[in-house]
Amino acid sequence: MDTRIETKCLHAGYEPKNGEPRQLPIYQSTTFKYDSSDHMGALFDLEAEGYFYTRLQNPTNDLVASKLAELEGGVAAMLTSSGQAANFFAIFNICEAGDHFIASSSIYGGTYNLFGVTMAKLGIECTFVDQDLPIEELDKYFKPNTKAVFGETITNPTCTILDFEKFATLAHNHGVPLIVDNTFATPVNCQPFKYGVDIVTHSTTKYLDGQGVSVGGAIVDSGNFDWMANKDKFPGLCTPDESYHGITYAEKFGKGAYITKATAQLMRDFGCIQSPQNAFYINLGMETLHVRMQRHCENAQKVAEFLESQDKVAWIHYAGLKNDKYHDLAEKYLENGTCGVLCFAVKGDRDTAIKFMDNLKLATIATHVADARTCLLHPASHTHRQLTDEQLIEAGISPDLIRYSVGLENADDLIADLKQALETI
Ligand SMILES: *Cc1c(COP(=O)(O)O)cnc(C)c1O
Repeated sequence: MDTRIETKCLHAGYEPKNGEPRQLPIYQSTTFKYDSSDHMGALFDLEAEGYFYTRLQNPTNDLVASKLAELEGGVAAMLTSSGQAANFFAIFNICEAGDHFIASSSIYGGTYNLFGVTMAKLGIECTFVDQDLPIEELDKYFKPNTKAVFGETITNPTCTILDFEKFATLAHNHGVPLIVDNTFATPVNCQPFKYGVDIVTHSTTKYLDGQGVSVGGAIVDSGNFDWMANKDKFPGLCTPDESYHGITYAEKFGKGAYITKATAQLMRDFGCIQSPQNAFYINLGMETLHVRMQRHCENAQKVAEFLESQDKVAWIHYAGLKNDKYHDLAEKYLENGTCGVLCFAVKGDRDTAIKFMDNLKLATIATHVADARTCLLHPASHTHRQLTDEQLIEAGISPDLIRYSVGLENADDLIADLKQALETI
């Protein structure tokens, strides 16, 4: 039966048969038993479907991944141990030493470091670009060895919105896929595949979990990118893999090629699998995702409107605000709302910002975001404290930026809290 996203949040993925457990079972098992040696051999040749070792795949994880694939409108998905692992795999699955890719310079700091520093050590070069440049300008960053383009639907922490259609056109003109981290929007508020995005990643640690209990990540493939049409660029997918008796992923697995390769090669070799227990928690979170996202957005809108009206607030970015630079893009791609995260600054220096934050009573200072409880962070004095103001600006983060993640509390209580803290500065 074709259902809407709210119904899918509850019912997609695990569908128990007669007499089976109603809730998703946790397959807490490292290994799986087979009756014949031949069957086991066929699994190792990727000729038969089935599980052999939880370092690569586990039934609980796969059921949760298939729910996420349905929510995103994709054909295949996999869970990883963290969002970092998901973004690493998403790129490393198609890039090797000597390759190049392009990423928005406004992406999450952890991903920025992974792409700019750690991947460089593997011989993979990333060029960071201003995502608001016109397509003709962005075009100039492509090289013959460029293999992918990467951005975030809503950037963390600067809350800008990616123009999917511009980036999809750009990537496809050069025969490479567009990969988008959809963590902040979630599939409830945005399904990037509708706008030409080829692969989506998630830090499931955020809204998908929603309660701050488990670190995890995911990769979802739309199945739309034609690897074989660009076979010279993607030898890993389009030429035989000798470690599996010479199968060619794009030929043998068609639309499932990208996720199958990431599972069979990268998960086998790196083992960044999500534990089945954590996959279970994420499934619980996804069951209420549609209800929670709506409330996160309503609350964030009220808080943003309050902050916008305050004299002591220097600036605020929230795409739900009519005057926001990204409001039109948000209306186009995020019809149900954006997310609960906003950023703003209070007038004054770093010390004023710190005083304001220390005086908040409800919102807690935490290295977390997109949680049921309101939390906040001042990158200049927390995650990025080693950087000077100049370096912060280079990284696209204003030294006065406060990232405020609106939770599920009563919005009036959050506003009262902000109000009393503003009065202290
Ligand atoms: C948190 C985050 C990540 C990293 O995810 P972890 O689960 O912490 O490894 C990646 N992308 C975005 C947008 C994030 O917010």
